[in-house]
This record gives sequence, C-alpha cells and structure tokens, in this order.
Amino acid sequence: MSIDKFTPLVKRLPTTVPFVGPEAQERAMGRLFRARIGANENVFGPSPKAVAAMQKAAGEVWMYGDPENHDLKQAIAAHHNIKTENVVVGEGIDALLGYTVRMYMEEGGITVTSLGAYPTFNYHVTGHGGELVMVPYVGDFEDRVALLEAARKHHVRMIYLANPDNPMGTYWKGSQVQEMIDALPEESVLVLDEAYIEFAPDDAAPPLDVSNPNVLRYRTFSKAYAMAGARVGYAIGEENVIKSFDKVRDHFGLNRVAQAGALAALKDQEWLSNVVENVSAACARIAKIAEANGLEALPTAANFVAIDCGADGDFARKVYQALTDDAIFVRMPAVAPQDRCVRISAGSVQDLDCFEAAFPKALATAKEQ
Ligand SMILES: *Cc1c(COP(=O)(O)O)cnc(C)c1O
Repeated sequence: MSIDKFTPLVKRLPTTVPFVGPEAQERAMGRLFRARIGANENVFGPSPKAVAAMQKAAGEVWMYGDPENHDLKQAIAAHHNIKTENVVVGEGIDALLGYTVRMYMEEGGITVTSLGAYPTFNYHVTGHGGELVMVPYVGDFEDRVALLEAARKHHVRMIYLANPDNPMGTYWKGSQVQEMIDALPEESVLVLDEAYIEFAPDDAAPPLDVSNPNVLRYRTFSKAYAMAGARVGYAIGEENVIKSFDKVRDHFGLNRVAQAGALAALKDQEWLSNVVENVSAACARIAKIAEANGLEALPTAANFVAIDCGADGDFARKVYQALTDDAIFVRMPAVAPQDRCVRISAGSVQDLDCFEAAFPKALATAKEQ
C-alpha cells in the first residue's frame, strides 16, 4: 500500500488539463490533421534570421542559458523605450501568469476573470489554491466594467483581462483599457494579457506606464513572432514588481536557443510587418468563407476569426466535431453564448483551401444530425 503523500490541495485539484494538444488528438484519431488552424499558432513562421540564430545556438546548448536573459531583456527594453528593470522574461506568458499568481495570491485568495476567457490564468489560480470569480462577457467582449465591480466587491488581488480577447478576437481600445486602469482598486493588480497586440489596431494598447505598480502587461513571441514552440514571453511593469519575479521564477527556465531566437526575431521588425499582413489577409479570407456559407464572422483584432455558426452551442459543437473528423484542427469557445462560434486561426493558403472545402460539408453534417 502506498503512503498518501500528496498535499490536500493537490488531492482536491481536478485531473483535467487546460489544453488537449492537436498531437494528442492525432494519436487518438490515428491520422494527422490536414490543416492545423486551431491553436492560433502562426503558420507564416519565424524570421529566417531567428531560425539561423537558433541553429547556431543549438550547437552551444551544452551551456545553460543566461539566467538573467540579459541581452534579450535589453533589446526588449530598447524596443519599448523603457528600462531593463521594467522587463522580466519568462517561458511564455503562460509561465509568467503562474509566477504572477504565486506573487500575489495566497491560498484561499480570490481573483476575477471572464467566464470563458483564456484558461491558463484560471489553471494557475486553482493550482495555487485560489478562487475564481467569473464575470460573463458583454456582447462578445470581456466586460471591463463588471470585472472592476467584481474586483471591488470581492477585494481581489488580481483582475485578468486579455486584450485582444481570445477566443472571440474582440478588443477594447487603449483609451477604454486606460479608464479601467484609472479606476483600479488600490488593492488590485490588472493582469493585462496582450498576447495578440501586434496584430491589433494601433489604438488597442494603452500607453506603457511603468510607474504604476498595479498593472502588469504580458507579451509573447508565440503569436506574431511565430515562435510558440520556443516558449518565450515577457512582462512589463514597475521596477519593484518586476524585481519580485526573481523570487519565484525559474531562473534557468529559458533555454539559450530560445533566447537567441527571440533576440533575432525582435530585431527583424520587417519580417514581423510582413507576417502581420499575411495574417490579416488570411483572416479576411476566413471571413469571406463564412460569408459564402451564409454566416457571419466576428471582426478580429488577432490572428484568428470566430465564425458564428448561426445557431446554439450544440450546433457549433457538431460543426466542430465534423471538422475534426475531417482532419481539420480548429477550436471553439467553451461557454454560451460564445460557444455558438468555431474559432479558426489564420492559416496558409493551403490550410484555408482545405477549410474552405471542408466547412460547407461540416455544416451540412451538423444540420443532418
Ligand atoms: C496564446 C495565448 C497565450 C500564450 O502565450 P505563451 O507566451 O505561448 O505562453 C497567452 N494568452 C493568450 C490570451 C493567448 O491566446
């Protein structure tokens, strides 16, 4: 008989995982997806300069990476015209969200997010023994007013907001986010996840104010820079807040291949602009495909499009399933009424050719059921 060694918290935690990867789905199906347009990855790929830098660094991988991420941090700071003391680099936004939760939330602590929003924040909160207050979307937007109200009511330490939002692709203007920042309770930190900000209109980001200890901004190399597999992200914030990440972060977490790649990617802003244009064209095509099927696509500020399947969640789940059965990898929102949509990531021309052919068939299959 084994001794029950787990903590009460771990025993209480559900065994669910926040993401089932396409690889797991492929293993279950016994075949590969024909189009991988479900995880908001960037099919246009990283800058060739980033690839070359990573290839070079691969031979040097016997060395640990620089635990201070010095060169990358310096380049990020210069890019945003802030000091290196205002930047912490980590293993993607996902890891940085975990460190943030550890910094601000005690066991039993309360946080607030939107019901159906990006789930990783929730995963960390629950995993550290915290509680989540979930605020419904308003229209298809995260409800910044209700989020603030809930924060005041429950005296929360952290408010999570993704802008642009995933899974809907909607965004608040920077001025509207700024109103939220100005109204933040003194006791609350705004966890502002800007994973898609490079795709968004210029007015989507509030001004960077690194003097405000109540706001943390999160950026990533996974989406616009097309380096999701390298796991590099960063947070921007007030100097003392940023310093506190050193108490909880994994100092050798960011491997040197990733550091070298991100540094080269950041320096190739021309590649980034090209990619953003390609993504925008792909999103426009997805909207056209929706229209050709008599459906509406939500306007997007990100690298994916939510297509309203024109009925309820049960119907959209059938469409989703039919696409999956046809080896097209997509995802969909989890919560009503947003679950009336399927979410399609900006794909290559070939990916979208596959989707264009498969979508009407999937809709027909769903209608027959
Ligand atoms: C994709 C995504 C992330 C993941 O970022 P990583 O840097 O790859 O961890 C974070 N937030 C949102 C809203 C996302 O959609």
